Amino acid sequence: MTRCNFYIDGAWVEPLGKHTVHSIVSPGDESVVGELLMGSADDANRAVAAAKKAFESYSQTTMAYRTEMLQKLQAAFERRYTEMAQAISTEMGAPWDLAYDSQAECGPGHIKATLEAAKDYPFSSRSGNNGDLISEPIGVCVLITPRTWPLNQIVSKLAPALLAGCTVVLKPSEFAPLSAKLVAEFVHEAGYPAGVFNMVYGDGPVVGPTLSSHPDVDLVSFTGSTAAGIAVAKSAADTVKRVSQELGGKSPNIVFADTDLDKAIGWSVRKCMSNTGQSCNAPTRLLVERSVYDKACVLAAQHGAAVQVAHPSTRGDVIGPLAMKRQFETVQRYIQIAIDEGARLLCGGLGRPEGLSKGYYARPTVFADVNNQMRIAREEVFGPVLVMIPFDTEEEAIQIANDTPYGLAAYIQCQDATRAQRVARRLRAGSVSINGTGQDYCSPFGGFKQSGNGREWGRFGLQDYLEYKVINYAH
Ligand code: NAD
Repeated sequence: MTRCNFYIDGAWVEPLGKHTVHSIVSPGDESVVGELLMGSADDANRAVAAAKKAFESYSQTTMAYRTEMLQKLQAAFERRYTEMAQAISTEMGAPWDLAYDSQAECGPGHIKATLEAAKDYPFSSRSGNNGDLISEPIGVCVLITPRTWPLNQIVSKLAPALLAGCTVVLKPSEFAPLSAKLVAEFVHEAGYPAGVFNMVYGDGPVVGPTLSSHPDVDLVSFTGSTAAGIAVAKSAADTVKRVSQELGGKSPNIVFADTDLDKAIGWSVRKCMSNTGQSCNAPTRLLVERSVYDKACVLAAQHGAAVQVAHPSTRGDVIGPLAMKRQFETVQRYIQIAIDEGARLLCGGLGRPEGLSKGYYARPTVFADVNNQMRIAREEVFGPVLVMIPFDTEEEAIQIANDTPYGLAAYIQCQDATRAQRVARRLRAGSVSINGTGQDYCSPFGGFKQSGNGREWGRFGLQDYLEYKVINYAH
Protein backbone atom coordinates (compact mmCIF):
# COMPACT_ATOMS: atom_id res chain seq x y z
CA MET A 1 0.00 0.00 0.00
CA THR A 2 1.47 3.30 -1.07
CA ARG A 3 0.71 6.48 0.85
CA CYS A 4 1.10 9.70 -1.08
CA ASN A 5 1.95 12.81 0.92
CA PHE A 6 2.81 16.29 -0.33
CA TYR A 7 6.30 17.45 -1.21
CA ILE A 8 6.73 21.06 -0.10
CA ASP A 9 9.87 23.11 0.53
CA GLY A 10 12.17 20.12 0.11
CA ALA A 11 10.34 17.75 2.48
CA TRP A 12 7.49 15.23 2.51
CA VAL A 13 4.70 16.73 4.58
CA GLU A 14 1.22 15.89 5.81
CA PRO A 15 -1.73 18.08 4.79
CA LEU A 16 -2.55 21.04 7.02
CA GLY A 17 -5.81 20.68 8.90
CA LYS A 18 -8.80 18.73 7.64
CA HIS A 19 -8.33 16.59 4.56
CA THR A 20 -9.97 13.72 2.78
CA VAL A 21 -8.35 10.43 1.86
CA HIS A 22 -8.74 9.12 -1.67
CA SER A 23 -8.15 5.44 -2.46
CA ILE A 24 -5.75 4.68 -5.28
CA VAL A 25 -7.52 2.04 -7.33
CA SER A 26 -5.67 0.00 -9.93
CA PRO A 27 -7.96 -0.09 -12.98
CA GLY A 28 -6.67 -3.51 -14.07
CA ASP A 29 -8.45 -5.35 -11.23
CA GLU A 30 -10.07 -2.61 -9.13
CA SER A 31 -7.80 -3.41 -6.19
CA VAL A 32 -6.90 -0.62 -3.78
CA VAL A 33 -3.13 -0.14 -3.97
CA GLY A 34 -2.70 2.91 -1.79
CA GLU A 35 -4.13 6.10 -0.49
CA LEU A 36 -3.81 9.70 -1.38
CA LEU A 37 -4.21 12.67 0.93
CA MET A 38 -6.27 15.34 -0.77
CA GLY A 39 -5.14 18.88 -0.10
CA SER A 40 -7.01 22.02 0.79
CA ALA A 41 -6.58 25.69 -0.08
CA ASP A 42 -4.16 25.97 2.87
CA ASP A 43 -1.89 23.30 1.40
CA ALA A 44 -1.94 24.99 -2.00
CA ASN A 45 -1.06 28.33 -0.39
CA ARG A 46 1.78 26.74 1.53
CA ALA A 47 3.25 25.26 -1.65
CA VAL A 48 3.01 28.60 -3.49
CA ALA A 49 4.72 30.38 -0.58
CA ALA A 50 7.62 27.89 -0.73
CA ALA A 51 7.93 28.33 -4.50
CA LYS A 52 7.85 32.11 -4.18
CA LYS A 53 10.58 32.13 -1.56
CA ALA A 54 12.79 29.77 -3.59
CA PHE A 55 12.33 31.83 -6.76
CA GLU A 56 14.39 34.68 -5.32
CA SER A 57 17.61 32.67 -5.38
CA TYR A 58 16.86 29.96 -7.98
CA SER A 59 15.99 32.51 -10.66
CA GLN A 60 19.45 34.03 -10.19
CA THR A 61 21.37 30.79 -10.74
CA THR A 62 23.36 30.33 -13.94
CA MET A 63 22.21 28.34 -16.93
CA ALA A 64 25.27 26.11 -16.43
CA TYR A 65 24.07 25.22 -12.92
CA ARG A 66 20.50 24.59 -14.05
CA THR A 67 21.74 22.45 -16.94
CA GLU A 68 23.78 20.35 -14.53
CA MET A 69 20.77 19.96 -12.22
CA LEU A 70 18.52 18.88 -15.08
CA GLN A 71 21.13 16.34 -16.16
CA LYS A 72 21.07 14.96 -12.60
CA LEU A 73 17.30 14.73 -12.81
CA GLN A 74 17.61 12.88 -16.12
CA ALA A 75 20.02 10.45 -14.47
CA ALA A 76 17.47 9.78 -11.70
CA PHE A 77 14.80 9.07 -14.34
CA GLU A 78 17.15 6.64 -16.07
CA ARG A 79 18.24 4.93 -12.84
CA ARG A 80 14.66 4.25 -11.72
CA TYR A 81 13.14 3.76 -15.16
CA THR A 82 11.50 0.39 -14.47
CA GLU A 83 9.91 1.65 -11.25
CA MET A 84 8.35 4.51 -13.22
CA ALA A 85 6.94 2.14 -15.86
CA GLN A 86 5.48 0.00 -13.07
CA ALA A 87 3.88 3.02 -11.36
CA ILE A 88 2.22 4.17 -14.61
CA SER A 89 1.00 0.70 -15.43
CA THR A 90 -0.50 0.32 -11.94
CA GLU A 91 -2.14 3.73 -11.63
CA MET A 92 -3.72 4.07 -15.07
CA GLY A 93 -3.66 0.54 -16.46
CA ALA A 94 -1.23 1.03 -19.35
CA PRO A 95 -0.14 -2.40 -20.61
CA TRP A 96 3.46 -3.19 -19.75
CA ASP A 97 5.01 -2.68 -23.20
CA LEU A 98 3.30 0.69 -23.62
CA ALA A 99 4.17 1.75 -20.07
CA TYR A 100 7.81 0.73 -20.48
CA ASP A 101 8.57 1.63 -24.10
CA SER A 102 6.53 4.82 -24.46
CA GLN A 103 5.02 6.23 -21.27
CA ALA A 104 8.11 5.98 -19.02
CA GLU A 105 10.35 7.05 -21.88
CA CYS A 106 8.64 10.45 -22.00
CA GLY A 107 10.50 11.46 -18.83
CA PRO A 108 14.11 11.27 -20.00
CA GLY A 109 12.94 11.98 -23.56
CA HIS A 110 11.54 15.43 -22.74
CA ILE A 111 14.49 16.29 -20.50
CA LYS A 112 16.96 15.51 -23.31
CA ALA A 113 14.94 17.52 -25.84
CA THR A 114 14.78 20.49 -23.45
CA LEU A 115 18.53 20.39 -22.79
CA GLU A 116 19.15 20.19 -26.53
CA ALA A 117 16.78 23.07 -27.28
CA ALA A 118 18.49 25.30 -24.73
CA LYS A 119 21.87 24.93 -26.45
CA ASP A 120 21.02 27.37 -29.22
CA TYR A 121 18.05 29.16 -27.64
CA PRO A 122 18.42 32.96 -27.98
CA PHE A 123 18.30 33.77 -24.25
CA SER A 124 19.89 37.13 -25.01
CA SER A 125 20.28 39.10 -28.21
CA ARG A 126 20.45 42.65 -29.50
CA SER A 127 17.21 44.64 -29.76
CA GLY A 128 17.19 47.39 -32.36
CA ASN A 129 20.04 49.92 -32.15
CA ASN A 130 19.83 50.75 -28.48
CA GLY A 131 19.18 47.69 -26.50
CA ASP A 132 19.58 44.16 -25.33
CA LEU A 133 16.75 41.67 -25.36
CA ILE A 134 17.00 39.20 -22.52
CA SER A 135 14.73 36.39 -21.41
CA GLU A 136 14.16 35.74 -17.75
CA PRO A 137 12.26 33.02 -15.89
CA ILE A 138 8.60 34.01 -15.66
CA GLY A 139 8.28 33.20 -11.94
CA VAL A 140 6.21 30.74 -9.92
CA CYS A 141 4.56 28.20 -12.22
CA VAL A 142 1.61 25.96 -11.43
CA LEU A 143 1.49 22.77 -13.46
CA ILE A 144 -1.85 20.95 -13.54
CA THR A 145 -1.75 17.60 -15.28
CA PRO A 146 -4.17 14.83 -16.34
CA ARG A 147 -4.41 11.08 -15.71
CA THR A 148 -3.50 9.78 -19.17
CA TRP A 149 0.07 9.97 -20.39
CA PRO A 150 0.69 11.29 -16.85
CA LEU A 151 4.47 11.45 -17.02
CA ASN A 152 4.51 12.99 -20.48
CA GLN A 153 2.40 15.89 -19.28
CA ILE A 154 4.42 16.44 -16.11
CA VAL A 155 7.88 16.37 -17.65
CA SER A 156 7.02 18.32 -20.80
CA LYS A 157 6.19 21.17 -18.38
CA LEU A 158 8.64 20.54 -15.57
CA ALA A 159 11.86 20.24 -17.60
CA PRO A 160 11.58 23.62 -19.38
CA ALA A 161 10.29 25.35 -16.23
CA LEU A 162 13.27 24.19 -14.18
CA LEU A 163 15.78 24.93 -16.91
CA ALA A 164 14.36 28.42 -17.44
CA GLY A 165 14.85 29.19 -13.72
CA CYS A 166 11.24 29.02 -12.59
CA THR A 167 9.98 27.42 -9.41
CA VAL A 168 7.07 25.05 -9.55
CA VAL A 169 3.95 23.76 -7.84
CA LEU A 170 2.75 20.55 -9.46
CA LYS A 171 -0.84 19.40 -9.02
CA PRO A 172 -0.99 16.02 -10.72
CA SER A 173 -4.19 14.16 -11.43
CA GLU A 174 -5.63 12.54 -8.34
CA PHE A 175 -6.11 9.48 -10.59
CA ALA A 176 -2.40 9.22 -11.49
CA PRO A 177 -0.58 9.94 -8.22
CA LEU A 178 2.11 7.24 -8.28
CA SER A 179 4.15 8.53 -11.22
CA ALA A 180 3.99 12.05 -9.76
CA LYS A 181 5.26 10.77 -6.41
CA LEU A 182 8.25 9.24 -8.17
CA VAL A 183 8.92 12.52 -10.02
CA ALA A 184 9.09 14.27 -6.64
CA GLU A 185 11.48 11.61 -5.36
CA PHE A 186 13.70 12.05 -8.44
CA VAL A 187 13.77 15.84 -7.96
CA HIS A 188 14.77 15.28 -4.33
CA GLU A 189 17.47 12.80 -5.34
CA ALA A 190 18.83 15.19 -7.94
CA GLY A 191 19.39 17.70 -5.12
CA TYR A 192 17.30 20.69 -6.20
CA PRO A 193 17.20 23.42 -3.54
CA ALA A 194 14.18 23.36 -1.21
CA GLY A 195 11.10 25.08 -2.63
CA VAL A 196 12.13 24.88 -6.30
CA PHE A 197 9.75 21.96 -6.83
CA ASN A 198 6.61 21.44 -4.75
CA MET A 199 3.75 19.03 -5.19
CA VAL A 200 0.25 18.95 -3.73
CA TYR A 201 -2.44 16.42 -4.48
CA GLY A 202 -6.07 17.37 -4.56
CA ASP A 203 -9.11 17.43 -6.68
CA GLY A 204 -9.48 20.08 -9.36
CA PRO A 205 -12.39 22.06 -7.99
CA VAL A 206 -10.80 22.41 -4.49
CA VAL A 207 -7.07 22.91 -4.97
CA GLY A 208 -7.25 24.04 -8.62
CA PRO A 209 -8.90 27.46 -8.18
CA THR A 210 -6.66 28.36 -5.21
CA LEU A 211 -3.63 27.78 -7.41
CA SER A 212 -4.92 29.33 -10.60
CA SER A 213 -6.24 32.49 -8.91
CA HIS A 214 -3.25 32.93 -6.60
CA PRO A 215 -1.68 36.41 -6.90
CA ASP A 216 1.83 34.99 -6.38
CA VAL A 217 1.55 32.57 -9.28
CA ASP A 218 2.82 33.90 -12.61
CA LEU A 219 1.84 31.09 -14.96
CA VAL A 220 -0.54 28.14 -15.02
CA SER A 221 0.24 25.42 -17.49
CA PHE A 222 -2.81 23.21 -17.71
CA THR A 223 -3.36 19.95 -19.57
CA GLY A 224 -6.73 18.24 -19.34
CA SER A 225 -10.27 18.49 -20.56
CA THR A 226 -11.52 21.61 -22.33
CA ALA A 227 -14.14 22.21 -19.63
CA ALA A 228 -11.55 22.25 -16.83
CA GLY A 229 -9.15 24.33 -18.98
CA ILE A 230 -11.84 26.99 -19.38
CA ALA A 231 -12.45 27.01 -15.61
CA VAL A 232 -8.72 27.48 -14.99
CA ALA A 233 -8.45 30.35 -17.48
CA LYS A 234 -11.45 32.11 -15.95
CA SER A 235 -10.15 31.86 -12.41
CA ALA A 236 -6.69 33.01 -13.54
CA ALA A 237 -8.03 36.04 -15.40
CA ASP A 238 -8.33 38.43 -12.45
CA THR A 239 -4.62 38.17 -11.70
CA VAL A 240 -3.58 38.51 -15.39
CA LYS A 241 -1.23 35.57 -15.26
CA ARG A 242 -0.13 33.64 -18.30
CA VAL A 243 -2.29 30.54 -18.94
CA SER A 244 -1.19 27.81 -21.27
CA GLN A 245 -3.91 25.29 -22.19
CA GLU A 246 -3.43 21.84 -23.72
CA LEU A 247 -6.94 20.42 -24.04
CA GLY A 248 -9.11 17.82 -25.72
CA GLY A 249 -9.42 16.62 -29.30
CA LYS A 250 -11.54 14.76 -31.85
CA SER A 251 -8.91 14.30 -34.51
CA PRO A 252 -9.77 13.41 -38.12
CA ASN A 253 -7.93 10.76 -40.10
CA ILE A 254 -8.53 11.06 -43.86
CA VAL A 255 -8.09 7.91 -45.94
CA PHE A 256 -7.93 8.45 -49.71
CA ALA A 257 -8.73 5.65 -52.14
CA ASP A 258 -5.20 5.42 -53.57
CA THR A 259 -3.71 4.15 -50.31
CA ASP A 260 -2.85 0.56 -49.35
CA LEU A 261 -6.24 0.13 -47.70
CA ASP A 262 -5.59 -2.84 -45.45
CA LYS A 263 -2.42 -1.26 -44.08
CA ALA A 264 -4.04 2.16 -43.64
CA ILE A 265 -7.16 0.86 -41.90
CA GLY A 266 -5.14 -1.50 -39.69
CA TRP A 267 -2.90 1.39 -38.59
CA SER A 268 -5.89 3.70 -38.10
CA VAL A 269 -7.74 1.26 -35.85
CA ARG A 270 -4.66 0.45 -33.76
CA LYS A 271 -3.69 4.11 -33.42
CA CYS A 272 -7.19 5.06 -32.23
CA MET A 273 -7.29 2.19 -29.71
CA SER A 274 -3.73 2.66 -28.44
CA ASN A 275 -3.60 3.63 -24.73
CA THR A 276 -7.22 2.39 -24.73
CA GLY A 277 -8.24 5.44 -26.74
CA GLN A 278 -7.06 7.77 -23.98
CA SER A 279 -4.75 9.99 -25.99
CA CYS A 280 -5.75 13.58 -26.63
CA ASN A 281 -4.46 13.33 -30.21
CA ALA A 282 -6.04 9.94 -31.01
CA PRO A 283 -7.41 9.72 -34.58
CA THR A 284 -11.02 9.08 -33.57
CA ARG A 285 -12.85 10.19 -36.72
CA LEU A 286 -11.97 7.98 -39.69
CA LEU A 287 -12.96 9.74 -42.92
CA VAL A 288 -12.89 7.32 -45.87
CA GLU A 289 -13.27 8.09 -49.59
CA ARG A 290 -16.61 6.64 -50.68
CA SER A 291 -15.24 4.45 -53.50
CA VAL A 292 -13.40 2.30 -50.90
CA TYR A 293 -15.71 2.91 -47.95
CA ASP A 294 -17.53 -0.45 -47.93
CA LYS A 295 -14.27 -2.35 -48.15
CA ALA A 296 -12.81 -0.13 -45.42
CA CYS A 297 -15.76 -0.98 -43.14
CA VAL A 298 -15.10 -4.70 -43.55
CA LEU A 299 -11.41 -4.19 -42.79
CA ALA A 300 -12.12 -1.93 -39.79
CA ALA A 301 -14.44 -4.58 -38.34
CA GLN A 302 -11.70 -7.21 -38.73
CA HIS A 303 -8.93 -5.04 -37.29
CA GLY A 304 -11.18 -3.82 -34.45
CA ALA A 305 -12.15 -7.39 -33.52
CA ALA A 306 -8.45 -8.35 -33.52
CA VAL A 307 -7.53 -5.78 -30.85
CA GLN A 308 -6.72 -7.76 -27.72
CA VAL A 309 -7.83 -6.40 -24.36
CA ALA A 310 -5.91 -7.69 -21.37
CA HIS A 311 -4.67 -7.05 -17.85
CA PRO A 312 -1.91 -4.38 -17.84
CA SER A 313 0.73 -6.93 -16.85
CA THR A 314 0.22 -8.76 -20.17
CA ARG A 315 3.14 -8.47 -22.58
CA GLY A 316 2.76 -7.75 -26.28
CA ASP A 317 0.38 -5.78 -28.43
CA VAL A 318 -2.68 -5.42 -26.18
CA ILE A 319 -4.77 -2.62 -24.77
CA GLY A 320 -5.58 -2.34 -21.08
CA PRO A 321 -8.49 -0.99 -19.06
CA LEU A 322 -9.71 2.60 -18.95
CA ALA A 323 -7.94 4.61 -16.27
CA MET A 324 -10.90 4.96 -13.92
CA LYS A 325 -14.46 3.82 -13.25
CA ARG A 326 -16.00 7.16 -14.24
CA GLN A 327 -14.29 6.90 -17.64
CA PHE A 328 -15.60 3.36 -18.13
CA GLU A 329 -19.12 4.69 -17.52
CA THR A 330 -18.56 7.62 -19.90
CA VAL A 331 -17.46 5.27 -22.67
CA GLN A 332 -20.52 3.04 -22.12
CA ARG A 333 -22.74 6.11 -22.27
CA TYR A 334 -21.23 7.23 -25.58
CA ILE A 335 -21.56 3.76 -27.13
CA GLN A 336 -25.26 3.86 -26.24
CA ILE A 337 -25.56 7.40 -27.65
CA ALA A 338 -24.03 6.26 -30.96
CA ILE A 339 -26.43 3.29 -31.15
CA ASP A 340 -29.38 5.59 -30.39
CA GLU A 341 -28.19 8.03 -33.06
CA GLY A 342 -28.36 5.24 -35.64
CA ALA A 343 -24.67 4.53 -36.17
CA ARG A 344 -23.90 1.01 -37.48
CA LEU A 345 -21.95 -1.10 -34.98
CA LEU A 346 -19.13 -2.96 -36.77
CA CYS A 347 -17.46 -4.49 -33.72
CA GLY A 348 -17.40 -4.15 -29.94
CA GLY A 349 -20.31 -2.46 -28.22
CA LEU A 350 -21.59 -2.16 -24.69
CA GLY A 351 -20.15 -4.03 -21.72
CA ARG A 352 -16.83 -5.67 -20.97
CA PRO A 353 -14.88 -7.97 -23.28
CA GLU A 354 -15.46 -11.66 -22.66
CA GLY A 355 -13.50 -13.10 -19.73
CA LEU A 356 -12.80 -9.73 -18.09
CA SER A 357 -15.36 -9.27 -15.37
CA LYS A 358 -13.28 -7.13 -13.01
CA GLY A 359 -11.46 -3.97 -14.04
CA TYR A 360 -12.48 -1.02 -16.20
CA TYR A 361 -12.21 -2.82 -19.54
CA ALA A 362 -14.24 -1.60 -22.51
CA ARG A 363 -14.72 -3.38 -25.83
CA PRO A 364 -12.80 -1.99 -28.82
CA THR A 365 -15.68 -0.49 -30.77
CA VAL A 366 -16.04 0.74 -34.35
CA PHE A 367 -19.12 2.50 -35.73
CA ALA A 368 -19.80 3.01 -39.43
CA ASP A 369 -22.28 5.30 -41.22
CA VAL A 370 -21.69 8.13 -38.81
CA ASN A 371 -22.28 11.69 -39.91
CA ASN A 372 -20.29 14.56 -38.56
CA GLN A 373 -23.27 16.15 -36.80
CA MET A 374 -23.81 13.17 -34.49
CA ARG A 375 -22.63 13.56 -30.90
CA ILE A 376 -20.40 10.51 -31.32
CA ALA A 377 -18.54 12.46 -34.05
CA ARG A 378 -18.39 15.79 -32.23
CA GLU A 379 -17.66 14.97 -28.59
CA GLU A 380 -14.49 13.52 -27.13
CA VAL A 381 -15.20 9.98 -25.85
CA PHE A 382 -11.69 9.23 -24.56
CA GLY A 383 -11.99 5.48 -24.99
CA PRO A 384 -11.49 2.77 -27.63
CA VAL A 385 -14.27 3.99 -29.89
CA LEU A 386 -13.74 4.81 -33.56
CA VAL A 387 -16.29 6.33 -35.92
CA MET A 388 -16.24 6.07 -39.72
CA ILE A 389 -17.57 8.80 -42.00
CA PRO A 390 -17.62 8.55 -45.81
CA PHE A 391 -16.69 11.48 -48.10
CA ASP A 392 -16.87 12.05 -51.87
CA THR A 393 -14.31 14.73 -52.68
CA GLU A 394 -11.09 16.15 -51.29
CA GLU A 395 -12.91 19.40 -50.57
CA GLU A 396 -15.59 17.58 -48.59
CA ALA A 397 -12.96 15.66 -46.61
CA ILE A 398 -11.29 18.93 -45.60
CA GLN A 399 -14.62 20.48 -44.68
CA ILE A 400 -15.63 17.51 -42.46
CA ALA A 401 -12.15 17.31 -40.91
CA ASN A 402 -12.25 20.99 -39.94
CA ASP A 403 -15.88 20.93 -38.80
CA THR A 404 -15.10 20.38 -35.11
CA PRO A 405 -14.58 22.63 -32.12
CA TYR A 406 -11.18 20.97 -31.66
CA GLY A 407 -7.92 21.23 -33.60
CA LEU A 408 -5.24 19.17 -31.92
CA ALA A 409 -4.08 16.68 -34.55
CA ALA A 410 -5.00 15.38 -38.00
CA TYR A 411 -3.93 12.37 -40.03
CA ILE A 412 -3.82 11.65 -43.77
CA GLN A 413 -3.37 8.30 -45.55
CA CYS A 414 -2.58 8.93 -49.19
CA GLN A 415 -0.05 7.84 -51.81
CA ASP A 416 -0.21 11.09 -53.79
CA ALA A 417 2.37 13.24 -51.99
CA THR A 418 1.24 16.47 -53.65
CA ARG A 419 -2.33 15.93 -52.57
CA ALA A 420 -1.27 14.96 -49.04
CA GLN A 421 0.77 18.17 -48.70
CA ARG A 422 -2.05 20.26 -50.15
CA VAL A 423 -4.63 18.82 -47.74
CA ALA A 424 -2.25 19.04 -44.75
CA ARG A 425 -1.89 22.78 -45.26
CA ARG A 426 -5.65 23.29 -45.10
CA LEU A 427 -6.32 21.27 -41.95
CA ARG A 428 -6.86 23.39 -38.85
CA ALA A 429 -4.80 21.34 -36.42
CA GLY A 430 -1.55 21.74 -34.48
CA SER A 431 0.01 18.67 -36.10
CA VAL A 432 -0.68 16.68 -39.25
CA SER A 433 0.73 13.21 -39.71
CA ILE A 434 0.95 11.74 -43.21
CA ASN A 435 0.96 7.95 -43.64
CA GLY A 436 1.62 7.20 -40.00
CA THR A 437 4.64 9.39 -39.37
CA GLY A 438 5.22 10.04 -35.66
CA GLN A 439 6.22 13.22 -33.88
CA ASP A 440 9.53 13.76 -32.10
CA TYR A 441 10.16 15.63 -28.87
CA CYS A 442 11.57 18.69 -30.66
CA SER A 443 8.35 19.48 -32.56
CA PRO A 444 5.71 21.74 -31.06
CA PHE A 445 2.80 19.90 -29.43
CA GLY A 446 -0.49 21.75 -29.03
CA GLY A 447 -3.74 22.59 -30.70
CA PHE A 448 -5.87 25.07 -32.61
CA LYS A 449 -9.31 26.23 -31.49
CA GLN A 450 -10.70 24.56 -28.34
CA SER A 451 -7.78 22.13 -28.17
CA GLY A 452 -5.82 24.88 -26.45
CA ASN A 453 -3.60 27.87 -26.92
CA GLY A 454 -0.21 26.52 -25.93
CA ARG A 455 2.69 24.73 -27.57
CA GLU A 456 4.90 22.40 -25.59
CA TRP A 457 8.04 20.29 -26.19
CA GLY A 458 11.57 21.32 -27.07
CA ARG A 459 12.19 25.02 -27.61
CA PHE A 460 8.44 25.71 -27.84
CA GLY A 461 8.05 24.50 -24.26
CA LEU A 462 10.97 26.60 -23.06
CA GLN A 463 9.43 29.74 -24.53
CA ASP A 464 6.38 29.42 -22.24
CA TYR A 465 8.43 29.78 -19.08
CA LEU A 466 10.29 32.93 -20.12
CA GLU A 467 9.51 36.63 -19.94
CA TYR A 468 11.21 39.02 -22.35
CA LYS A 469 12.84 42.19 -21.16
CA VAL A 470 14.46 44.84 -23.28
CA ILE A 471 17.16 47.02 -21.74
CA ASN A 472 17.76 50.16 -23.76
CA TYR A 473 20.76 52.33 -23.14
CA ALA A 474 22.31 55.47 -24.56
CA HIS A 475 25.51 55.09 -26.56
P1 NAD B 1 -9.50 16.60 -16.33
O1 NAD B 1 -9.78 17.89 -16.99
O2 NAD B 1 -10.58 15.90 -15.61
O3 NAD B 1 -8.33 16.78 -15.24
C1 NAD B 1 -7.05 17.31 -15.58
C2 NAD B 1 -6.45 17.96 -14.36
O4 NAD B 1 -7.19 19.14 -14.07
C3 NAD B 1 -6.49 17.11 -13.09
O5 NAD B 1 -5.31 17.33 -12.36
C4 NAD B 1 -7.70 17.67 -12.36
O6 NAD B 1 -7.64 17.47 -10.97
C5 NAD B 1 -7.58 19.14 -12.72
N1 NAD B 1 -8.82 19.93 -12.64
C6 NAD B 1 -10.08 19.55 -12.89
N2 NAD B 1 -10.92 20.59 -12.72
C7 NAD B 1 -10.16 21.67 -12.38
C8 NAD B 1 -10.42 23.03 -12.07
N3 NAD B 1 -11.65 23.53 -12.06
N4 NAD B 1 -9.37 23.84 -11.77
C9 NAD B 1 -8.11 23.36 -11.78
N5 NAD B 1 -7.80 22.08 -12.04
C10 NAD B 1 -8.81 21.24 -12.34
O7 NAD B 1 -8.81 15.66 -17.45
P2 NAD B 1 -8.41 14.13 -17.33
O8 NAD B 1 -9.64 13.33 -17.33
O9 NAD B 1 -7.41 13.92 -16.28
O10 NAD B 1 -7.66 13.93 -18.75
C11 NAD B 1 -8.35 13.74 -19.94
C12 NAD B 1 -8.47 15.03 -20.73
O11 NAD B 1 -7.18 15.62 -20.91
C13 NAD B 1 -8.99 14.77 -22.15
O12 NAD B 1 -9.89 15.79 -22.49
C14 NAD B 1 -7.72 14.84 -23.00
O13 NAD B 1 -7.96 15.17 -24.35
C15 NAD B 1 -6.95 15.90 -22.30
N6 NAD B 1 -5.52 15.79 -22.60
C16 NAD B 1 -4.96 16.74 -23.39
C17 NAD B 1 -3.63 16.66 -23.73
C18 NAD B 1 -2.97 17.69 -24.61
O14 NAD B 1 -1.75 17.75 -24.65
N7 NAD B 1 -3.73 18.50 -25.34
C19 NAD B 1 -2.87 15.58 -23.25
C20 NAD B 1 -3.47 14.62 -22.43
C21 NAD B 1 -4.82 14.74 -22.11
